[in-house]
Amino acid sequence: MCVIAHPLVPSPITVAGMTIRGPHVPAGLSLQFWGVRGSTCASGPDFIEFGGHTPCVEVRCGERLFILDAGTGLNALGAHHRDRLPQRIDLLFSHLHLDHVGGLPFLKPAILDPAREIHTWCGNLDGASAAEPLGRLFAPPLFPITLDAMPARFVHHGFRSGESLAFPDGATVDTIPLLHPQGATGYRFRHAGRTACYISDIEHSDPWPDPDLLRFVAGADLVVYDGMFTQGEYPACRGWGHSTWQKGVELCRDGGVGRLAIIHLYPQHTDAMLREIEQQMQEVMPTAFIARERQEVALGAEVALGADVPVGAVRVPEPV
Ligand SMILES: [Zn+2]
Ligand SMILES: [Zn+2]
Repeated sequence: MCVIAHPLVPSPITVAGMTIRGPHVPAGLSLQFWGVRGSTCASGPDFIEFGGHTPCVEVRCGERLFILDAGTGLNALGAHHRDRLPQRIDLLFSHLHLDHVGGLPFLKPAILDPAREIHTWCGNLDGASAAEPLGRLFAPPLFPITLDAMPARFVHHGFRSGESLAFPDGATVDTIPLLHPQGATGYRFRHAGRTACYISDIEHSDPWPDPDLLRFVAGADLVVYDGMFTQGEYPACRGWGHSTWQKGVELCRDGGVGRLAIIHLYPQHTDAMLREIEQQMQEVMPTAFIARERQEVALGAEVALGADVPVGAVRVPEPV
């Protein structure tokens, strides 16, 4: 019997000998944003709609799970999925700056389960893995225990940005180096005829778009892009390794990209400011949006029990 897990509904349904856990089985490519803030967290009444957690994005290629970055949003991801996370978890780092790794020891309850393996992937350290820098960060006196002391087993993989990653189950993910202090890695996921790219953290080059990056994102259904600064803020922040939504739109327009999601939001940009920025952006690119914490984007048709989910559907759950 074939058992298909769906993260949203735990109780199984059996149809024609096939057990389906959930109202529909995701056949396509989908993303869920668990942290969209950059550099540091935000909190308070002005940050409810877009959220305050630092970067963490869930990517599903059918049932196959990837987690992009381990910002503080990783805690919310773990708390949501709990035991439904797979035994092996692949966590792909854009890079190791604090806002992208700070949530790592808080992937609960998975990290407290000795049966789990957490595989980290890091591409901006000349082929070295994240083991040594994470070992320095998560150790006394900065953190009470080391990752090795956690019940879950960590396996750290190093690669060079630009290489394609091949996983034991046959899944592959393409990567590209990004312009950022100490470097960063962009990722491209292809599944069921759909393509999504995660391009953060990045500072746009001059001229722009960068030809290699343009080729990398060309024809993608969705690009998730670092739009931290407004054009007005950018000159004072040049060299910090971040970009603007306008550069994201230029990249997507030239690359024939379907949708653009802006992340790595500036911690002092309030909901009201971001709504206004989104409106300006949508006047230029109607399919672009600023990602909200917990927002889901489905890029493939789903095999539905009852109703089809339209391609490209975006669902923003009620705040929890
Ligand atoms: Zn960052
Ligand atoms: Zn960074």
